[in-house]
Amino acid sequence: MSGTRQTGATAADGGPVTILKADNVGMTFGEGAGTVEAIRKVDFELFKGETLAIVGPSGCGKSTLFNAIAGLLPPTRGHVELAGRRVHDAVGHVGYMLQKDLLLPWRSVIDNVVLGLEVRGAPKSKSRAIAMDLIKAYGLSGFEYARPATLSGGMRQRVAIMRTLAFDPEVILLDEPFSALDFQTRLLLQADVSRIIAERGKSAILVTHDIGEAIAMADRVLVLSARPATVRALHVIDLPKAGRDPVALRTDATFQAYFARIWADLEMPPATANVA
Ligand code: ADP
Ligand code: MG
Repeated sequence: MSGTRQTGATAADGGPVTILKADNVGMTFGEGAGTVEAIRKVDFELFKGETLAIVGPSGCGKSTLFNAIAGLLPPTRGHVELAGRRVHDAVGHVGYMLQKDLLLPWRSVIDNVVLGLEVRGAPKSKSRAIAMDLIKAYGLSGFEYARPATLSGGMRQRVAIMRTLAFDPEVILLDEPFSALDFQTRLLLQADVSRIIAERGKSAILVTHDIGEAIAMADRVLVLSARPATVRALHVIDLPKAGRDPVALRTDATFQAYFARIWADLEMPPATANVA
């Protein structure tokens, strides 16, 4: 594993390679008087090797968008493509991780890590070897046979990311993955998970309402309006990716400038929306 980040993997024409694309996605729940329009119109591209953060206020439709990207919920308008295929045809190529770690409490760490592989019918010995490598690489050696209840919240989220990585998805989706954790653990895991994604050369989408988390972890940040979600802005985060330290960043002037801009985007009325 080289550890080098593959951000901006380039196509033959020199441009970035698009791995996932959301095209005119809209989502409305229910019918008649009880209709809830969650997403009005969202378009974006995810480039190979990058982390794209999607930020927006609580209730704006982020998890709904996440479900559309994961292929769990077909959008009512538009579509999501993964490497040129509609996502509902690409099940297994997107791995996701949610706010709640959703580990099975009766299974040990290793048995939780192999879960995705098991569901996909991978041979048991191969699955366990992959899981053991991940557990070792990401600092949970000695806990292979521990039950989730005996682990800290941060450790459980690490098991959840290992489970996501085990089946080697092309794209990793994270929906508010750290919001249930205390502030310190959250900052440490942001650094951890960013490093893991970079080391594995994965493309990722991080959905979050936490502006600081988005800037600390992403190459680009897509800002959504309040519900029904539309795209407010798209910022390229021009901070050195390697070794971005979420703690040190808090006092970095560039970080603070991005924070102020995204904060302003979120407060801005839709009529003056400015898509960078
Ligand atoms: P976020 O993740 O940004 O907090 P969600 O995507 O969870 O927001 O929800 C966006 C809006 O859509 C909310 O108003 C929510 O109540 C509504 N919503 C989400 N899922 C459903 C559903 N299955 N049926 C009806 N309304 C829903
Ligand atoms: Mg949500």
